Amino acid sequence: MKIEKIKNYNQKILVILGTITIIIGIVFILKTIKETEDVGESLNVFAFRKPDSRYFKNYNPMSIRNSIVTRDLIKFQEYKDSVKGRLTKITDNKKQLQRIIDRNKLQDTIKDKYEKRINEYEKRIGILEKTIINFDILESSVCKFKLNPIDSSSGNLTYDQNENVVSINYIRNNIPNFVHEMTHAYQFLKGGIAFTKNSEKPFAIDLFDEVSAYKAQYAYDPISVIKEILSDSIVNNLIDIDTSWVRGIRDPIKKNHLYHKTHYAIKNININTPVKELDDAYPKINYDSLKLKHLYMGIITYENCKR
Ligand SMILES: [Zn+2]
Repeated sequence: MKIEKIKNYNQKILVILGTITIIIGIVFILKTIKETEDVGESLNVFAFRKPDSRYFKNYNPMSIRNSIVTRDLIKFQEYKDSVKGRLTKITDNKKQLQRIIDRNKLQDTIKDKYEKRINEYEKRIGILEKTIINFDILESSVCKFKLNPIDSSSGNLTYDQNENVVSINYIRNNIPNFVHEMTHAYQFLKGGIAFTKNSEKPFAIDLFDEVSAYKAQYAYDPISVIKEILSDSIVNNLIDIDTSWVRGIRDPIKKNHLYHKTHYAIKNININTPVKELDDAYPKINYDSLKLKHLYMGIITYENCKR
């Protein structure tokens, strides 16, 4: 009888221990699944946020930021910080120059020269502030973006259909060029440009889009434009960056004009520009109705990012 009792007691203990082991096992499996999902999430470039239009209306800078693919977030933040740093530096320079004017009795010619420089600083400050907002807008948009450093003399923007992401292809380790290409990415979000479905080439890109991109680049680093961009005319100030300067830009090696290609519109157009106005914008392309219909059906706009 006594032995029987001990047996029953042992059996109960075994049942309890067994149950605890099973519970621990289940918890462990669930935890592993959760971790696997987390890893999946960080590699998942298909995820879009719910549709919204906050990137230009009622924009909320505190909104969740998940439109840059996870692996590029640190790099993206590094570039944004660099632009912020440049803004602080130029603001300080401007204040310093203003103090010199205020505290000294300067010759008119020198005072004039300094005032012109202050004026240029002010314009650059305005553009850099806008660029920082563009960084924020990109980070919280409905479209997904990836950073793609390339070993080339110029960058571009393409749409990766397999991954459903806009690829910012910029010259490796070249922040001025990144700022330039990022401006085009912002233009895509605004409906200023789109992509053709099969060739991944930009659609509706025009000389005015390039003027904005080069101005943003100049505001961040004037030397990257003055010294590194070869054009038929010379840039000394922001005002010199206009459509005719862009038309004059040449490939540094082949020396051909880069923006004479047929897909660069010479008029300011966007994805909503009526068909009849495209003849003027693309003088080298013959738009018969069939072609146009085809073209309009096959473009990818920011609206394709919504689901
Ligand atoms: Zn460009």
